Amino acid sequence: MKVHSADIVISAVAPAQYPETDLPEIALAGRSNVGKSSFINTLINRKNLARTSSKPGKTQTLNFYLIEDALHFVDVPGYGYAKVSKTERVKWGKMIETYLTQREQLRAVVSLIDLRHAPTQEDIQMYQFLKYYEIPVIVVATKADKIPRGKWNKHESVIKKALHFEQTDQFILFSSVTKQGKEEAWQAIEAAIK
Ligand code: GDP
Repeated sequence: MKVHSADIVISAVAPAQYPETDLPEIALAGRSNVGKSSFINTLINRKNLARTSSKPGKTQTLNFYLIEDALHFVDVPGYGYAKVSKTERVKWGKMIETYLTQREQLRAVVSLIDLRHAPTQEDIQMYQFLKYYEIPVIVVATKADKIPRGKWNKHESVIKKALHFEQTDQFILFSSVTKQGKEEAWQAIEAAIK
């Protein structure tokens, strides 16, 4: 998809605030600092529409971006931020669970995982959660430019093994620095919203 327009529509914390449209939605989830904002900005050809966070985990809202009047990206606040209180964490979990399990417009979740490291417990939980609810998932492994090409396979295997990755799911190596994986990511998203 060639993106010319992308605008934030609303930051929502509850279903009453979700936009009232039938447009398909693609949610984006990952731990803080995984490169989610950079991924969104790369896909929509912007430098900083989705803010790259200096304070990871700060945004505790679901941010809806309207893309080309064709779909919404829903930026799910990053998980795994140690400094939030337990109460906040529970609230955060409920908000996301509600959205992911009840939103009819949701077509797929892009689950971002850092290619450099083994998935965290939260990464694994997210993948298993999506599988349990039969929500289509596109795994995007970020920061591929930080790993030498010859080691990509090994890192990919580590991630897939830890997730119990299903081979029918999409796995995309991505870098917002080299733009590697951008076309593949758009293809997966476009297929999911068809
Ligand atoms: P978010 O918290 O998940 O939204 O992560 P950001 O997009 O803000 O990125 C976190 C940090 O990782 C920033 O310093 C980015 O510049 C850096 N980063 C994100 N994506 C990449 C990538 O593909 N390659 C490299 N080398 N750095 C990246």
